Amino acid sequence: MTIRYKYKFIRGILLKVLFPLYMLVGAFVPSKKESLQASIIRMNNFLIERAQLNTRKLLLLMPHCLQVDKCEIRITTDVHNCKGCGRCEIKDLVRICDEYRLELHIATGGNLARRVVSDVRPEAIIAVACERDLSSGIVDVYPMPVYGVSNERPFGPCLNTKVDISKVEDAIAMLTGNNGAQDSKDVSSG
Ligand code: SF4
Repeated sequence: MTIRYKYKFIRGILLKVLFPLYMLVGAFVPSKKESLQASIIRMNNFLIERAQLNTRKLLLLMPHCLQVDKCEIRITTDVHNCKGCGRCEIKDLVRICDEYRLELHIATGGNLARRVVSDVRPEAIIAVACERDLSSGIVDVYPMPVYGVSNERPFGPCLNTKVDISKVEDAIAMLTGNNGAQDSKDVSSG
Protein backbone atom coordinates (compact mmCIF):
# COMPACT_ATOMS: atom_id res chain seq x y z
CA MET A 1 0.00 0.00 0.00
CA THR A 2 1.49 3.38 -1.01
CA ILE A 3 1.76 6.16 1.53
CA ARG A 4 -1.08 8.01 -0.25
CA TYR A 5 -3.48 5.06 0.02
CA LYS A 6 -2.47 4.36 3.57
CA TYR A 7 -3.48 7.84 4.69
CA LYS A 8 -6.62 7.77 2.53
CA PHE A 9 -7.65 4.60 4.35
CA ILE A 10 -6.96 6.09 7.78
CA ARG A 11 -8.93 9.21 6.80
CA GLY A 12 -11.80 6.93 5.82
CA ILE A 13 -11.85 5.44 9.34
CA LEU A 14 -11.67 8.93 10.84
CA LEU A 15 -14.44 10.42 8.70
CA LYS A 16 -16.81 7.50 8.27
CA VAL A 17 -16.45 5.82 11.67
CA LEU A 18 -15.06 8.26 14.24
CA PHE A 19 -16.91 11.36 12.99
CA PRO A 20 -20.42 9.85 13.41
CA LEU A 21 -19.45 8.67 16.90
CA TYR A 22 -18.20 12.15 17.78
CA MET A 23 -21.45 13.67 16.49
CA LEU A 24 -23.42 11.18 18.59
CA VAL A 25 -21.53 12.43 21.64
CA GLY A 26 -22.13 16.00 20.45
CA ALA A 27 -25.88 15.34 20.28
CA PHE A 28 -25.85 14.60 24.01
CA VAL A 29 -23.33 17.32 24.92
CA PRO A 30 -24.05 20.23 22.55
CA SER A 31 -21.49 22.48 24.27
CA LYS A 32 -18.75 20.10 23.07
CA LYS A 33 -19.96 19.73 19.48
CA GLU A 34 -17.84 22.48 17.92
CA SER A 35 -14.65 21.34 19.65
CA LEU A 36 -15.31 17.77 18.51
CA GLN A 37 -15.78 18.99 14.92
CA ALA A 38 -12.57 21.04 15.23
CA SER A 39 -10.63 17.99 16.39
CA ILE A 40 -11.88 15.95 13.40
CA ILE A 41 -10.72 18.78 11.08
CA ARG A 42 -7.30 18.86 12.79
CA MET A 43 -6.84 15.09 12.48
CA ASN A 44 -8.01 15.16 8.85
CA ASN A 45 -5.54 17.95 8.07
CA PHE A 46 -2.73 16.08 9.80
CA LEU A 47 -3.39 12.98 7.69
CA ILE A 48 -3.51 15.03 4.49
CA GLU A 49 -0.17 16.62 5.37
CA ARG A 50 1.37 13.20 5.97
CA ALA A 51 0.06 11.86 2.64
CA GLN A 52 2.43 14.18 0.67
CA LEU A 53 -0.03 14.71 -2.16
CA ASN A 54 1.92 17.04 -4.51
CA THR A 55 -1.34 18.22 -5.98
CA ARG A 56 -1.36 19.93 -9.36
CA LYS A 57 -5.04 20.79 -9.56
CA LEU A 58 -6.19 22.57 -6.44
CA LEU A 59 -9.56 24.15 -5.72
CA LEU A 60 -10.03 26.92 -3.14
CA LEU A 61 -13.59 26.80 -1.88
CA MET A 62 -14.68 29.80 0.17
CA PRO A 63 -17.91 30.65 1.97
CA HIS A 64 -20.00 33.60 0.78
CA CYS A 65 -19.94 35.15 4.28
CA LEU A 66 -16.30 36.17 3.70
CA GLN A 67 -17.60 38.90 1.40
CA VAL A 68 -18.39 42.02 3.42
CA ASP A 69 -22.17 42.44 3.61
CA LYS A 70 -22.04 46.04 2.29
CA CYS A 71 -20.50 44.92 -1.00
CA GLU A 72 -23.10 44.45 -3.72
CA ILE A 73 -20.80 42.95 -6.33
CA ARG A 74 -21.82 39.46 -7.39
CA ILE A 75 -18.79 37.26 -6.87
CA THR A 76 -20.50 33.87 -6.71
CA THR A 77 -20.56 33.54 -10.50
CA ASP A 78 -17.02 34.90 -11.00
CA VAL A 79 -14.61 35.93 -8.24
CA HIS A 80 -12.88 38.25 -10.70
CA ASN A 81 -15.87 40.58 -10.46
CA CYS A 82 -14.28 41.66 -7.15
CA LYS A 83 -12.95 45.23 -7.48
CA GLY A 84 -10.17 44.61 -4.96
CA CYS A 85 -11.17 47.42 -2.59
CA GLY A 86 -9.71 45.51 0.37
CA ARG A 87 -12.72 45.75 2.67
CA CYS A 88 -12.72 41.95 2.85
CA GLU A 89 -10.28 39.12 2.19
CA ILE A 90 -11.79 38.19 -1.16
CA LYS A 91 -9.24 40.64 -2.60
CA ASP A 92 -6.29 38.61 -1.21
CA LEU A 93 -7.86 35.33 -2.24
CA VAL A 94 -8.25 36.52 -5.84
CA ARG A 95 -4.59 37.63 -5.80
CA ILE A 96 -3.49 34.22 -4.51
CA CYS A 97 -5.64 32.39 -7.04
CA ASP A 98 -4.12 34.43 -9.90
CA GLU A 99 -0.57 34.09 -8.56
CA TYR A 100 -0.78 30.31 -8.17
CA ARG A 101 -3.15 29.77 -11.11
CA LEU A 102 -5.68 27.99 -8.91
CA GLU A 103 -9.44 27.60 -9.13
CA LEU A 104 -11.21 29.85 -6.62
CA HIS A 105 -14.94 29.55 -6.04
CA ILE A 106 -17.36 31.08 -3.58
CA ALA A 107 -20.11 28.73 -2.42
CA THR A 108 -23.36 29.90 -0.89
CA GLY A 109 -24.20 26.46 0.49
CA GLY A 110 -23.53 22.75 0.43
CA ASN A 111 -25.35 22.08 -2.85
CA LEU A 112 -23.41 24.71 -4.76
CA ALA A 113 -20.16 23.51 -3.19
CA ARG A 114 -20.85 19.95 -4.35
CA ARG A 115 -21.64 21.19 -7.87
CA VAL A 116 -18.39 23.19 -8.01
CA VAL A 117 -16.43 20.11 -6.92
CA SER A 118 -18.04 17.95 -9.58
CA ASP A 119 -17.51 20.64 -12.29
CA VAL A 120 -13.89 21.47 -11.42
CA ARG A 121 -12.83 17.90 -10.56
CA PRO A 122 -9.80 18.95 -8.51
CA GLU A 123 -7.21 16.63 -7.04
CA ALA A 124 -7.58 18.32 -3.65
CA ILE A 125 -9.49 21.17 -2.02
CA ILE A 126 -8.68 23.86 0.50
CA ALA A 127 -11.96 24.83 2.13
CA VAL A 128 -12.71 27.68 4.50
CA ALA A 129 -15.87 27.58 6.61
CA CYS A 130 -17.13 27.22 10.17
CA GLU A 131 -16.31 23.97 11.99
CA ARG A 132 -19.80 22.54 11.38
CA ASP A 133 -19.83 23.10 7.59
CA LEU A 134 -16.17 22.16 7.21
CA SER A 135 -16.41 18.86 9.05
CA SER A 136 -19.61 17.79 7.28
CA GLY A 137 -18.22 18.90 3.90
CA ILE A 138 -14.97 17.00 4.45
CA VAL A 139 -16.99 13.86 5.24
CA ASP A 140 -19.35 14.41 2.27
CA VAL A 141 -16.70 14.49 -0.42
CA TYR A 142 -14.39 11.80 0.97
CA PRO A 143 -12.20 10.29 -0.57
CA MET A 144 -11.45 13.70 -2.12
CA PRO A 145 -8.80 15.26 0.17
CA VAL A 146 -10.14 18.48 1.72
CA TYR A 147 -7.82 20.55 3.89
CA GLY A 148 -9.98 22.59 6.24
CA VAL A 149 -9.25 26.11 7.48
CA SER A 150 -11.72 27.41 10.06
CA ASN A 151 -12.99 30.93 9.52
CA GLU A 152 -12.98 33.66 12.15
CA ARG A 153 -16.37 35.04 13.21
CA PRO A 154 -15.88 38.39 14.96
CA PHE A 155 -19.52 39.36 14.21
CA GLY A 156 -21.00 35.93 14.90
CA PRO A 157 -21.81 33.17 12.39
CA CYS A 158 -22.35 33.85 8.69
CA LEU A 159 -21.69 37.61 8.78
CA ASN A 160 -18.51 39.36 7.62
CA THR A 161 -16.36 36.39 8.54
CA LYS A 162 -12.60 36.39 8.10
CA VAL A 163 -9.82 33.98 7.27
CA ASP A 164 -6.13 34.00 8.11
CA ILE A 165 -4.65 34.30 4.60
CA SER A 166 -1.27 32.96 5.75
CA LYS A 167 -2.97 29.68 6.72
CA VAL A 168 -4.42 29.40 3.21
CA GLU A 169 -1.01 30.11 1.65
CA ASP A 170 0.68 27.55 3.93
CA ALA A 171 -1.92 24.96 2.91
CA ILE A 172 -1.31 25.71 -0.79
CA ALA A 173 2.45 25.29 -0.32
CA MET A 174 1.95 22.01 1.55
CA LEU A 175 -0.54 20.52 -0.92
CA THR A 176 1.46 21.47 -3.98
CA GLY A 177 4.77 20.20 -2.55
CA ASN A 178 5.97 23.73 -1.67
CA ASN A 179 6.06 24.63 -5.32
CA GLY A 180 2.49 25.68 -5.96
CA ALA A 181 3.08 28.67 -8.20
CA GLN A 182 5.55 26.98 -10.50
CA ASP A 183 3.68 23.69 -10.77
CA SER A 184 0.38 25.39 -11.44
CA LYS A 185 1.95 27.66 -14.03
CA ASP A 186 3.49 24.63 -15.70
CA VAL A 187 0.09 22.98 -15.86
CA SER A 188 -1.63 26.01 -17.33
CA SER A 189 1.09 26.60 -19.90
CA GLY A 190 1.45 22.91 -20.78
S1 SF4 B 1 -12.60 43.15 -1.69
FE1 SF4 B 1 -13.96 42.62 -3.43
S2 SF4 B 1 -15.61 41.39 -2.55
FE2 SF4 B 1 -14.58 42.44 -0.82
S3 SF4 B 1 -15.77 44.31 -0.51
FE3 SF4 B 1 -14.09 44.84 -1.92
S4 SF4 B 1 -14.94 44.56 -4.00
FE4 SF4 B 1 -16.35 43.52 -2.56
